[in-house]
Amino acid sequence: MKVNHAEIIISAASKKQYPNEPIPEIALAGRSNVGKSSFINKMIQRKNLARTSSKPGKTQTLNFYRINEKFHFVDVPGYGYAKVSKKERAKWGKMMEEYFAEREQLRATALVIDIRHKPTEDDCMMYDYLKHFDLPVMVIATKLDKIKKGQRNKQIQLISTTLEMEEEDQLIPFSSETGEGKDLAWRSMLSHLEL
Ligand code: GDP
Repeated sequence: MKVNHAEIIISAASKKQYPNEPIPEIALAGRSNVGKSSFINKMIQRKNLARTSSKPGKTQTLNFYRINEKFHFVDVPGYGYAKVSKKERAKWGKMMEEYFAEREQLRATALVIDIRHKPTEDDCMMYDYLKHFDLPVMVIATKLDKIKKGQRNKQIQLISTTLEMEEEDQLIPFSSETGEGKDLAWRSMLSHLEL
């Protein structure tokens, strides 16, 4: 997939601000610091369009990126902040619900997790949450460059069994360092976008 054009359209704090062009969307979720911004930047070949290492506690928004004028990536704020207040968490929950329950353009989601570790409880909760909306979930197991080749299969097994991944969902080993997995990730995304 060649990305000729990628721009951030809006950081939306509420539903009123969502772009209303009827083009398909993929939402990207993941724990804070897992490597989600690096994944987005690698996919769209930009060094720093998606902000890396967004700090917990700052304003929570849905960031809409328009790619090649044809579809949107929607960067969903990271979850699993240990120190976030109850109020912040409730706000986050409301924003997620508003988006995932009602967004007609949404075709699929990508859940970014760390291939080095067993998925956390938060990762499992997010997978179940997305499935509850009947959405296809591509599990992007990133930081592939940080494990030995001999460990790959074991980690892939551990992730798919811990998340209890459904048959229809694909697990994609990925590295933002080396670009490994990028073609597979695009193929999977394009199949959901039906472009
Ligand atoms: P985000 O908070 O989920 O958006 O995470 P970032 O994209 O900011 O990444 C967090 C840290 O992990 C940064 O220091 C990145 O450079 C590093 N990182 C992200 N992806 C990879 C990867 O595939 N390989 C390696 N080695 N480091 C990565």
